Amino acid sequence: MAQVRRLVTDLPGPRSQELMVRKTDAVAAGVGTTMPVFAARAAGGVVVDVDGNHLIDLGSGIAVTTVGNSAPRVVAAVQEQVAAFTHTCFMVTPYDAYVSVAEALNRVTPGDHEKRTALFNSGAEAVENAVKIARAHTGRDAVVVFDHAYHGRTNLTMAMTAKNMPYKHGFGPFAPEVYRAPLSYPYRDGDLDGAAAAARAVDVIEKQVGAENLAAVVIEPIQGEGGFIEPATGFLPALAEWCRSHGVVFVADEVQTGFARTGDLFACDREGVVPDLIVTAKGIAGGLPLSAVTGRAEIMDAPHVGGLGGTYGGNPIACAAALAAIETIEADDLVGRARQVEELMKARLGELQAADDRVGDVRGRGAMIAVELVRSGTQEPDADLAKRIAATAHRAGVIVLTCGTYGNVLRFLPPLSISDELLTEALDLLTEAFAADRAATSQEAVAP
Ligand SMILES: *Cc1c(COP(=O)(O)O)cnc(C)c1O
Repeated sequence: MAQVRRLVTDLPGPRSQELMVRKTDAVAAGVGTTMPVFAARAAGGVVVDVDGNHLIDLGSGIAVTTVGNSAPRVVAAVQEQVAAFTHTCFMVTPYDAYVSVAEALNRVTPGDHEKRTALFNSGAEAVENAVKIARAHTGRDAVVVFDHAYHGRTNLTMAMTAKNMPYKHGFGPFAPEVYRAPLSYPYRDGDLDGAAAAARAVDVIEKQVGAENLAAVVIEPIQGEGGFIEPATGFLPALAEWCRSHGVVFVADEVQTGFARTGDLFACDREGVVPDLIVTAKGIAGGLPLSAVTGRAEIMDAPHVGGLGGTYGGNPIACAAALAAIETIEADDLVGRARQVEELMKARLGELQAADDRVGDVRGRGAMIAVELVRSGTQEPDADLAKRIAATAHRAGVIVLTCGTYGNVLRFLPPLSISDELLTEALDLLTEAFAADRAATSQEAVAP
């Protein structure tokens, strides 16, 4: 597939518009879309729509196609497995691929202690199971999560997610025994370093929950939907240490940060943090639905036989895809590629920030990079600016996503199969979008 941006119609084109009419009539309104453009094919760093437009992909379907869309090893493994058998249910007649994925995850996740893995379908389902396992192990009920957290859309994970709109609004009541602690948020924390931010969180946990009631602390090592917030150095190690000394299960939700995305195989690796349980999904299987909980054998083995599972969890086709995705990450050094992407993106976004003071913060790691947008000369979130820039990028054929509690963060999650040329072109277009927006809004300001 040609690795170029090429628009042959205005976006959305006529066939996408027709499909959008059908979508509106057939699909529940609650299921929104970022762009009104329907996909036909995708590979490398390009998504081709049904009108033949080639778009630059800076979203990876929300950090899923890290190894690339329809990556060659994934396609071959899936084709072989789908022809052999599609499903037996691992809980009825098990199969090799599930065990092989468990072995692979036990090997590549942080820490060299004895581990076990259980497989599920979605990130939210895996987060729920991590909580079940931590409760079974500790005999305690409470779960601590953080400001700006995102853990999913099921009932328990809605309770764990911070943001009301759109994730929780009107969908309560939520699961009990979920408590929220303050995060480390360097851009908005003043001088608070990692250790001090951890002490602030621990104080809330000890005063409002009590360690002896607490089953698990669940945290994204770099927050995803919450705004790609990277806690200050020392925050995660201090929290993990506090958990260890109080018998609390430390759970890393690496659903978005996992599998080379952040320039390490897992984001916890950067500071040598070894979580008791690690939750993975998104980038795990090159686009097929699969998720996992991996962790210390004595914790993972706490639930009774039959207590964990599900009809589809660890589906053989998804497992074949995961083995191929992990092989691709290792064989093609995608961890190294993610670090190159970071270098290229941060250099360009740093220049943008120097030229435009509405870019308040440039942050993230690897191929998980964001800019937080604010009103000129302040730290006031500017969600409208994020919306305008995203809309301009979309019209130009660049898939970008927004995020953040205030909706003022533009986030970039390119597949690691993207070329430097495409990345550079996307950054050129974004730079132009900021300059044009600045010119337009300053003209408005002087207009009578
Ligand atoms: C996306 C995400 C989830 C939920 O995953 P689903 O597969 O959508 O259920 C959970 N945690 C984090 C950090 C995520 O980014």
